[in-house]
Amino acid sequence: MSSTPVKSKLTEQLEQLDVQHYMHPTSVPGQLPKMVFESGDGINVKNTDGESYIDGISMLWNVNLGHGQKGLGEAAKAQMDKIAFSSSFAGYSNEPAIRLAKKLADWAPEGLNTAFYTSGGSESNDTAFKLARFYWQLKNQPKKSKFISFKNGYHGVTIAAGTATTLAGFHRFAGTHIPDMLHATAHLTECEKGDRNHPDFKESARHIIETEGADSIAGIIIEPIQGSGGVYMPPEGYLQALRDLCDEFDILFIADEVINGFGRTGAKFAVEHYDVIPDLMSLAKGITSGYAQLGAVMVHDKIKEVINSSEGVMAHGFTYSGHPMACAVGIRNMEIMEEENIVSHVQEMEKVMNEGLAYLEDKHTIFGLPRNKGLIGAFEIFEDSASGKRFDADKKVGLQFVEDCFKRNLILRALGTADGKAIIALAPPLVITKPEIEKMISIIDDALTNFKA
Ligand code: PMP
Repeated sequence: MSSTPVKSKLTEQLEQLDVQHYMHPTSVPGQLPKMVFESGDGINVKNTDGESYIDGISMLWNVNLGHGQKGLGEAAKAQMDKIAFSSSFAGYSNEPAIRLAKKLADWAPEGLNTAFYTSGGSESNDTAFKLARFYWQLKNQPKKSKFISFKNGYHGVTIAAGTATTLAGFHRFAGTHIPDMLHATAHLTECEKGDRNHPDFKESARHIIETEGADSIAGIIIEPIQGSGGVYMPPEGYLQALRDLCDEFDILFIADEVINGFGRTGAKFAVEHYDVIPDLMSLAKGITSGYAQLGAVMVHDKIKEVINSSEGVMAHGFTYSGHPMACAVGIRNMEIMEEENIVSHVQEMEKVMNEGLAYLEDKHTIFGLPRNKGLIGAFEIFEDSASGKRFDADKKVGLQFVEDCFKRNLILRALGTADGKAIIALAPPLVITKPEIEKMISIIDDALTNFKA
């Protein structure tokens, strides 16, 4: 374990200025910053005291190509030197936005050939909801305006995406809940139920559809593999069954691939693993590996065709929709992923990660429920994993374990704390190597060995 590093004058000054002037997103207000990042290289980041940490969670699950990728900065500079910003409203366009849209269409599942740009994931989901409603209006079914989201789902924090988010903490904060966002309770998970074929999962959504009336439901939204809600894998057949349900009741399927997309799960997009083609697909994060603020909604041809039949202006768009610099970074990001065969690399690294998790499961009685697909994974801390006995929720052992890893210079993230669970998420940059995964595993091993609740 590293000794407590001495803080530099710079760090102390920045910490004070931070507390005085910087209100942080999704943080405890008014606290000193935990660390002030200064630089990064590959899977490592450094703070303003020069101390190095492994970024085991790709910051916010987004730095897919890792830190310090020079090519992305060069693409940004080249575009900024030409024209940093230009409007995409009122029919104006720009080359990077056009070329990125084509590239996204090439990567996306069949039929999803058109991109609507946003600045991030919440905006992508809000856009997906509005496009879905617009579609049903144009199809003369304006009553179809409600959406269904699932237990543990995280879809962002704007008021519509935030209402689709089912994690309670995000609602307590400001009582945000717009009408017509319905929560299906049973996103059952193989991890929670130990039953991959449990029938209930689909029944909860069916129940809502039948109770509310299919003629009032515009769409469902789901993360194929849930991220912030606890890294839950869909049970076998789950997504296909939901797709069938949508087809049966004429409801749009919105896949939220904000975390899942761009190689994270060992495929370009997670829906590929499950043979499902969504009607709308929300993207952000890995689209630029976090190097520029960009999101997109991929629109299926069947929706585009209807939308293109409308008359007048479709009055929806953000100033930064189709931002030339962000799109140039997006193109270079996808090119590097192709050049470096990132998707097959992730498939290889998945095996290394799974071996590491199996080793930890064999060795530690407090370690349980490991799961991982590509490089999105998690495990849980139990008092006794064999019997499923958890530590007392008040002990918040997940946060404590993450702190123990932080002291060992590994950044991880605890999930499920509000539900009394200690889920530890693992999502390192996709460029991670075998020795680097082994190093992560050995740090976790040491933290588990020395863990005291
Ligand atoms: N959807 C998912 C699945 C996410 O994980 C997130 C962010 N963690 C969002 C949407 C929201 O994205 P943003 O923070 O860029 O608005």
